[in-house]
Amino acid sequence: MADKRIFNFNAGPAALPLPVLEEIQSSFLNFNGSGMSITEISHRSPWFDQVINDAVDRTKRLLNLDDRYHVLFVQGGASLQFAMAPMNFLTDGKSADFVNTGTWSTKAINEAKILNKNHSVVASSEDRNFCYIPKDIRFNPDAAYAHITTNNTIKGTQWHTFPDTNGVPIMADMSSDFMSRPLDMDKFGMIYAGAQKNIGPSGVCMVIIRKDLLETANNEIPSMLRYSTFASKNSMYNTPPCFGIYTIQLVLKWLEETMGGLEKMEAHNQAKGKLIYDLIDNSDFYRATADKDSRSLMNVTFRLPTEELEKSFIEKATAKGLGGLKGHRSVGGCRASIYNAATMEAVQALVEFMESFKKES
Ligand SMILES: *Cc1c(COP(=O)(O)O)cnc(C)c1O
Repeated sequence: MADKRIFNFNAGPAALPLPVLEEIQSSFLNFNGSGMSITEISHRSPWFDQVINDAVDRTKRLLNLDDRYHVLFVQGGASLQFAMAPMNFLTDGKSADFVNTGTWSTKAINEAKILNKNHSVVASSEDRNFCYIPKDIRFNPDAAYAHITTNNTIKGTQWHTFPDTNGVPIMADMSSDFMSRPLDMDKFGMIYAGAQKNIGPSGVCMVIIRKDLLETANNEIPSMLRYSTFASKNSMYNTPPCFGIYTIQLVLKWLEETMGGLEKMEAHNQAKGKLIYDLIDNSDFYRATADKDSRSLMNVTFRLPTEELEKSFIEKATAKGLGGLKGHRSVGGCRASIYNAATMEAVQALVEFMESFKKES
């Protein structure tokens, strides 16, 4: 029942807007008068065409994309993009620059290594366990692209401004902050985002790619690994993840029509983040793990004075209906993921709990 739902701070799959879930529920048995569920409809039908085209149109409106970009839906998660990008763009000895800001960046670099592609790691924050975003990075002017991870889901850091790459297109893994703020698209050649953090369920990855880059892509790889296959068939070369795309469409509609677009979404996310960070900053009980200028507005990572207290914090929070606060198993501590769909009410409930836990301890 809807009134038994918890405040969900999971990192991914993560909370979705309640109105979206309700709309899925109410139209689940008979989608749009078709007499079928969205999970039973042909992807070659006018019903599904309307869904995928609306999702693409809303993406373009939300991000102010012009006709220079394709909007694609690919399976295999963001993890497949780690390999697909070098396979498509690092041919004929071309090289890519990488900035290593944590677990996911490291995985992206590893795929370039496995594929034996030329690449350089031009900056890294590994020296301090990835608690900051490197500054004053010098990119190679002849790199095919510069890869960054805009939000580091596990380490709790986020790029708040994007680097000057001297015209080299940025390729961004935006899985955990996609659609959380407006973007200056001129900097980006490609953006990809696994849906399950901020825009939908798992099983689909959104890829935004500049058409002129696509023209330089390698076509001597299997069809399903070529961006051009997805671009030329409106992401329907084979059966797409229909339910995931439908959910994304509804989330984008919610973003546009209920939240009022990305400027408003960003302001809302800043207000939520401020509530938690202010509490952390005004206490010597909670300690933020990321440097102040690099903190994420999506994944707030913090520690308590001892591991025992952290364990008890997570247990008591869970008992009070505040779920998903355990830090990633590779780093420990606590993490509150407050993506777009996390409400102010949820954040307020968390902050109140943090205050009272501190007093009790
Ligand atoms: C979760 C995540 C991934 C991995 O996504 P999958 O869709 O599970 O492959 C990659 N990058 C970032 C930044 C993530 O948060």
